Formats: sequence, C-alpha cells, structure tokens
Amino acid sequence: MLPISLAIVGVGKIAHDQHLPSIAGNPDFQLVATTSRSNTVEDIPNFATIEEMLAAIPSIDAVSLCMPPQFRYDAAYKAIAAGKHVFLEKPPGATLSEVADLEALAIAKGVSLFASWHSRYAAAVEAAKSFLASASIASVHVVWKEDVRHWHPNQDWIWQAGGLGVFDPGINALSIITHILPTGIFLRSATLEFPENKHAPIAADLYLTNAENVSVHAEFDWRQVGEQTWDIIAETSAGQMVLAQGGSTLTVNGAVIPVSSETEYAALYSRFADLIKNGKSDVDLAPLRHVADSFMLGKRVVVASFHDLPGAD
Ligand code: NAP
Repeated sequence: MLPISLAIVGVGKIAHDQHLPSIAGNPDFQLVATTSRSNTVEDIPNFATIEEMLAAIPSIDAVSLCMPPQFRYDAAYKAIAAGKHVFLEKPPGATLSEVADLEALAIAKGVSLFASWHSRYAAAVEAAKSFLASASIASVHVVWKEDVRHWHPNQDWIWQAGGLGVFDPGINALSIITHILPTGIFLRSATLEFPENKHAPIAADLYLTNAENVSVHAEFDWRQVGEQTWDIIAETSAGQMVLAQGGSTLTVNGAVIPVSSETEYAALYSRFADLIKNGKSDVDLAPLRHVADSFMLGKRVVVASFHDLPGAD
C-alpha cells in the first residue's frame, strides 16, 4: 500500500518536537506539504493557507492540525469537507459542540477523525489500566504541577479564552484517568484560580467521584518551580499504585512494573494509520468534558497578575 500523503497545519513547537520526527519514522506516512504563516520544513512545499494547500495538492490524504485549539475548527472543517482524514492535536477543540460538529461531518464524508490524547500513549499507562482493572480502588490523587514560564514561554493563546490555561497540561492527566479508571467519573466541585490579568486559570483543584463515591482529587498548578510533578497515585485493595512522570513510570507498593518502549507520538501515528486503514474514527471527548464541567461548576478566585518575566508587574 502507498504511504498516506500527509500535511501539517501549524508548524510550531509540538510540530517540530514530535510530529515531524514521528512522521519521518513511520513508513505509513509521507509528509508532502505544510501550511504555516511563519515556518517551513526543509524540502517540503509550504502554503500560507489551508485552502491554497488543498487546492494546490489534491492528492493529500490526511492533515495533522497542530495549532492551538481556538484556531483548529475552521481548518478541520475545511480539511474534512475536502475529504481528508484529520488528526487533531489535544485538546481537540475550543468547545465540545464544535468537535461534535466535526465528528458528524467526518461520518458524512466517510473520513477518519482522530482526536488525539498523547498522554494516553505514555509508556506506563496501559500497565496502570491493567493493574486498576484487577484491584478495588479506594481513592485517586492527581498532582500535575509545573512551571508555566519554562513550558509555555510567551504563548499568549494559552492565557486567552479557549486556551485552557493550566488545563492545557491538566487535560493530559484527565485523559489518562478517564482511560485507566474502570468506571466513569464526574465533577462534584472545583476551585479555579485566575490571575487578574488573564482569561484562563493558573491553578485548579478538582474533586470528582464515580457513582460509588470513590474520590478522585486533582490538583493542577502552573506556579511550581524546581521539581516538576505529573503523578497519579491510587490507593487500592492491592496496594498503592504510583503512575509518575506523566504516565511514563509505574510502581506498585514501591516495586517497578515493566512498561512499553514505544514513544507517545510514534504510537499516535500508528493509531492514526490504523484508523485510516480500517475506516474508523476515534473521538473521545471525556477529558474535554471534565474541563468544560470545571469551568461550569468551579468557583472562581482571582489571584495575583501573571507575567512571563517574573517581577514585571
Ligand atoms: P505554538 O508553538 O504556540 O503554536 C503552534 C502553531 O500554531 C504556531 O506555530 C502557528 O503556526 C499556529 N498558530 C499560533 N497562533 C495562531 C493563530 N492565532 N491562528 C492560527 N494559527 C496559529 O503551540 P504548541 O506548543 O505547538 O501547541 C499547539 C497545540 O499542541 C496545542 O493545542 C497544545 O496543547 C498541543 N500540544 C503541545 C505540546 C507542547 O509540548 N508544546 C505537547 C502536546 C500537545 P504557524 O506559525 O506555522 O502558522
């Protein structure tokens, strides 16, 4: 079978860090074009708009959309309407309804839509899911604390409405717990902290449960300097499970559990190729739904202004 002709739209940090190397390492895909207002990829034709790209290279089979969520729907709509398979970076959109709209359009056009959640493909996530399936869970504690100045320097979109603020990393934790927990969960209460000069939260504290009242407490904070924490700790009938470092390591009662050696984005592109080959889509909105619920139910607290340069206020 011929490789899938693929284009990238939005050639920024994640496209360079992950998409380009993963595409280059996967024989199922061939990168044939990019759309970027500011960057190019060596030896690959670049276009200023997705319309120009789709008109110039009608043989494009699939498009990966790597821009921030607020700008993804229009590009996704145009690509699907033109009969292209679409890979959406996380989060899949700025609203639940726009992603539902894309899902319906993909069905109507007979193309694959992949709402990707890269953290679900972290090395230890499947092992954690298997462990939790075999134990009774008493409680879950999620601690996702990082330094926004280090990870998101000068990314204005992330602080704007729809950019999600601390939920941009926090949704990665939500994507993991909604995958590994054996039952559905829902939000009971939340507190969101908004810097007084921003439209998105810098911290969030969520209390979720399942129908049996098993507590899932999630703490997201962007003000952590020094050691960074991306941990999920479950107390269970078979002992304590610690899924750490963003889902890449797993211990049970302190013993290290063997994990997969495949990298997140290599696994994502394998999944995208499988979806296309099998005429399927994969659109799970649960992580985005929990974020929407947090904005709907959460208490809002205004905290100190945030500036990329410390002490700039
Ligand atoms: P970024 O570098 O700030 O932006 C990516 C690209 O999006 C930009 O280079 C630009 O593409 C396009 N873009 C930015 N603002 C735009 C606007 N106003 N209108 C249209 N296009 C715009 O962001 P990123 O870190 O790569 O993140 C992009 C997405 O990937 C986000 O949803 C993020 O959550 C997700 N993600 C990021 C990471 C990470 O480590 N950074 C990890 C996993 C997932 P052109 O200049 O090429 O036109």
